[in-house]
Amino acid sequence: MAYKIIGSQCTNCSGCEAECPNLAISERGGTFVIDPALCTECIGHFDTPQCVAICPVDNTCVIDTSVPRYHES
Ligand code: SF4
Ligand code: SF4
Repeated sequence: MAYKIIGSQCTNCSGCEAECPNLAISERGGTFVIDPALCTECIGHFDTPQCVAICPVDNTCVIDTSVPRYHES
């Protein structure tokens, strides 16, 4: 799976964008989004998803259950 940003809760602080080791987070049309094709759940980089760790709003960066689980290759 990848993480996703709940757009209605995101304050657009941009804090998560620079923290992602895979450059999966970007601003699109005024809101921040995670590209599920790039998100590795931070596996192999950090113990904790960095977008979750940095986000000031609880439960805004969450697992997206609609995409398959990420597997380290
Ligand atoms: S979980 Fe990690 S890899 Fe995925 S978007 Fe968040 S910071 Fe980037
Ligand atoms: S850190 Fe949280 S509030 Fe800030 S841009 Fe990212 S998802 Fe939005």
